[in-house]
Amino acid sequence: MAKVHVKKGDRVYVLTGEERGKSGKILRVLPKKNRVIIDGINMMKKHTRPTPTNTQGGIIESPAPMDASKVMLVCPHCDKPSRVQRQRDPNGVVRICKRCDRPID
Ligand SMILES: [Zn+2]
Repeated sequence: MAKVHVKKGDRVYVLTGEERGKSGKILRVLPKKNRVIIDGINMMKKHTRPTPTNTQGGIIESPAPMDASKVMLVCPHCDKPSRVQRQRDPNGVVRICKRCDRPID
């Protein structure tokens, strides 16, 4: 199984599709489907029925999962979408930005 290259809380940049060029924070990772849910990206309208707490019902917008291969991690140091190198160190695996050579986590 391919491992998702990004994780929850990462800021990512969208490479392809309708949302190309936007960036946002990852809210959830769905590893089995290799998909991610990103705050404010790929918004889908959901129709809801009236409930006791929301008597009107109506339309709620929420982000839908998208393919993890369509996004690239944004390095917090150089603030650009960057390729990442994984390096092992005593505490586990560290992700290093290939652009500025600094650890991302
Ligand atoms: Zn960087």
